Amino acid sequence: MKIIMLIDMDYFFAACEELRHPELREKPVVVGADPKGGKGRGVVSTCNYLARRYGIHSAMPISMAYRLKPDAVFLPVDYEYYEEMSRKVMQRVKEFATRFEQVSVDEAFIDVSGKVDGYDSALSYAKELKESVTKSYGLPCSVGVSTNRVLAKMACEAGKPDGIMLVKEEDGAKFLAKMPVGKLYGVGKKTGEKLQGMGYKSIGDLARANPVNLVSEFGSYGAEIYRSANGKGDDSVVENYEVKSIGRERTFQEDTSDRDEIRRQIISICKEIKTEIEKQGFSFKTITLKIRYPDFTEQLRGKSLGHYSNDISQVEDVAIRLFERYVEHGERIRKIGVRISSLSKKGGQMRMSDFAN
Ligand SMILES: [Mg+2]
Repeated sequence: MKIIMLIDMDYFFAACEELRHPELREKPVVVGADPKGGKGRGVVSTCNYLARRYGIHSAMPISMAYRLKPDAVFLPVDYEYYEEMSRKVMQRVKEFATRFEQVSVDEAFIDVSGKVDGYDSALSYAKELKESVTKSYGLPCSVGVSTNRVLAKMACEAGKPDGIMLVKEEDGAKFLAKMPVGKLYGVGKKTGEKLQGMGYKSIGDLARANPVNLVSEFGSYGAEIYRSANGKGDDSVVENYEVKSIGRERTFQEDTSDRDEIRRQIISICKEIKTEIEKQGFSFKTITLKIRYPDFTEQLRGKSLGHYSNDISQVEDVAIRLFERYVEHGERIRKIGVRISSLSKKGGQMRMSDFAN
């Protein structure tokens, strides 16, 4: 039996702001676009729990947040600072893991099967991890513990904030059954609405569906959500935390959902990476797509080829497939990036200076 955990920092950007300005702890804090006295455009990135009491939540238009609580503390997104805190926290999390996979700036899956023996020991290990992060860095987090990614993620969400939740494999389907179908990990807004339209209101409804219907509607993704609804699923954790990598990013002038434009940018990024790997003589094994949304949340989605390659068309193919798979139609994007890692260099070992870019 594998033990997979998801550690997710609570209201991360706002928590980072509270950390450097402790006087904010007693106030509603909203990190995001400039509200400009209620006329501002853009959205809320993150807010603390005090702000949530007023109905404010992430991805909400900043003008609406302003109307709900004009005297809340509104702060701009200081991404560099949050990334610096993220690096520290993730380094600690990694020390607890047999395998470590960061999926966003404040979230990571870890496989701890080699470190624990059974559920009880997994639970105390999760406590140890949580305490270590909270005590060392003063940032709150939640941990979900189970045997696969879906259950670990859903357990973590259910335990928030500042919680630890364990869901045993055999209790998975029951744990999920009453939740609305749109809450299932891996189901986005559009898919959620489509499933509702097909008559699946709760995750339990989806678990009892005829999988054939789901596959004919959604292809292999239909089979995947059917398994998820039944508490089964992927238990792999793919190491992606690589210092040794080459990547490029593009920020769009305006947030965009224009898929042709996004694909063009992915291809143009890949051209730059091609120039770089030819210059340096690198081969690579892993390709990661990074998507940053208007609210500054990020998705990292990676794929390992299983062998070394220097064929850039593979990077393009994989990056575009990950984009098609993980970004829904109509979803707006702020920034897109592609990164190759697990590098190898012809003619000997790599030096650290090879990675300075
Ligand atoms: Mg978080």
